[in-house]
Amino acid sequence: MQFTIDFIPELKVVSPGRINLIGEHTDYNMGYVLPTAIEKNITFGFRKNGSDTKCGVYSKTFDTGFEIDLNGIARSGVEWENYILGVLNEISKRTDKLRGFDCILESNLPTGSGLSSSAALECGLAYGLNELFDLGLTKLELVQLSQTAEHTYAGTQCGIMDQYASVMSRENHLILLDCLTLEAQYIPIDLDPYKIILLNTKVSHNLATSEYNVRKRECEQGVSLVKEKFPEVDSLRDVTGDMLKACKDGMPDKIFKRCAFIVAENARVLQMADAFKAGDHAKVGQLLYEAHQGISELYEVSCAESDFLVDFSKSYPSVLGARQTGGGFGGCTLNIVHRDAVAEFVEAATHAYEEKFGIVLEPYEVEPCGGTGSFVP
Ligand code: ADP
Ligand code: MG
Repeated sequence: MQFTIDFIPELKVVSPGRINLIGEHTDYNMGYVLPTAIEKNITFGFRKNGSDTKCGVYSKTFDTGFEIDLNGIARSGVEWENYILGVLNEISKRTDKLRGFDCILESNLPTGSGLSSSAALECGLAYGLNELFDLGLTKLELVQLSQTAEHTYAGTQCGIMDQYASVMSRENHLILLDCLTLEAQYIPIDLDPYKIILLNTKVSHNLATSEYNVRKRECEQGVSLVKEKFPEVDSLRDVTGDMLKACKDGMPDKIFKRCAFIVAENARVLQMADAFKAGDHAKVGQLLYEAHQGISELYEVSCAESDFLVDFSKSYPSVLGARQTGGGFGGCTLNIVHRDAVAEFVEAATHAYEEKFGIVLEPYEVEPCGGTGSFVP
């Protein structure tokens, strides 16, 4: 029989998705990223159910749920259950205070669209259980255990950006995060008269997880080759363009391209942060286009649908810049669009995209917002 639960929650948690202005695939290379949470989120209702070990989790979004025994947590054959189980597994390693609970979750955050619904799911669950059972874990611990859950149970060797952005964001700010030291600088985002418009390609090529892990390995291979000449290098973060050029001869072309993208992308993150501080909107847009070119040609994690939409933006002077956001192979493009031109641009892009691919895209206007939070209903 289908598993369902319904109850009046004693605690509610809202856990947001995120956009990343720039700095794609730089997090697991110990570089910089510039994300913020957005007002698209997963809402969780929690209650303690009085049992020592029995738990129930129900996703209204997927209209499916499952039961868990905390004494027998193991990977599941059902993809989404692994995000839940991975988090419970990590919490259980850190504390013995977890007891039986029920959880219902509901989402307006599109899945598999590069807006990190997976991190919102992990972090919202971890955050809620931390409050419900007074586990005493810090926000950073919640971020880190959620990231580990994604590695061990979901199988994506992700960096720390998605979980960090979901939990740590502040309203109207970008986070300039140094993924090595975890030092965070909060940068006010003032784009007026421009808006951030996401165009959801509605494609999510299933290469995303496997190729993500392949890219990570390619970067590691790059680091070990650079290390032969520059032993002081620990990650691509330590590599400059000149150092990379000096190593080019001994490197497979593909590995060189991957490294060249990361080195340039790290520099772009810092330039983008400066552009926001200076209110230089034109520079913000230019960096987005440059980043997309690297994503597409050097890192090769774009796809025909994303490339088409980014190219389409270029024909609109009222769009300052655009790029695919998220891990790759589809999901959303992020566009900086003059507020007076939003409706016209979205309509034209929708029309052109449907004509080309037979898919009706979904547009979202998004505002930076604060990270995961809870309230007692
Ligand atoms: P993204 O993080 O970009 O949205 P991922 O492939 O990393 O894409 O994560 C999407 C997966 O997260 C979904 O396929 C599903 O397993 C899980 N997920 C996200 N939101 C929900 C939800 N509301 N209910 C159940 N599972 C969800
Ligand atoms: Mg994800």
